[in-house]
Amino acid sequence: MNCPACGREVKILSSVYEVPYFGRILLTSISCECGYKHSDSIITEIKEPRRYTIKIESGNLFTKVIRSSSGTIRIPEVGVDIEPGPASQAFITNLEGILTRVEDIVKVARKWNSDDSEKVKRCNLILEKIDRTLKGEEKLTLILEDPFGNSAIISDDVFIEKMSEHEASELKTGITIMEITGLSEEELKEKFKS
Ligand SMILES: [Zn+2]
Repeated sequence: MNCPACGREVKILSSVYEVPYFGRILLTSISCECGYKHSDSIITEIKEPRRYTIKIESGNLFTKVIRSSSGTIRIPEVGVDIEPGPASQAFITNLEGILTRVEDIVKVARKWNSDDSEKVKRCNLILEKIDRTLKGEEKLTLILEDPFGNSAIISDDVFIEKMSEHEASELKTGITIMEITGLSEEELKEKFKS
């Protein structure tokens, strides 16, 4: 396949993860000499819009989170939404890793808004809540929504809902592997069938 940025041939790397109870997850990354990079995940056995909800607490910080490029992350108590953008990448992390990412984003936001005392106060409040959650003094809710069902939280304590087509259509999506490879859903299923 050719690079969407410069048109040259790209390198494609794929790795398959076996995740208990979930089946196989294919993580693909493409890179080009011009610097273009993109990675995405695809869960081969779930193909419907899903919402995962879990309470983040000190006892489950190592719970695995798979976020595809089309996954939206929300932490309602602090009003944080991480929505996929055009350059959105897939990643596999854990709940602690999500909190660390949010912490980094909020610190940048605080810096950019350093002349707005209201915004600085709000950022400090979020950072404090994250800190208290990491220490086990508070619990935050993590919601992960994916219109293509390619994101997941791997835990017995996670609440899983099927989202309606309408809810799913309201979500922002990044570039999906289906668009990258040019394969239809049927062709993908065929290709990754064991
Ligand atoms: Zn390129």
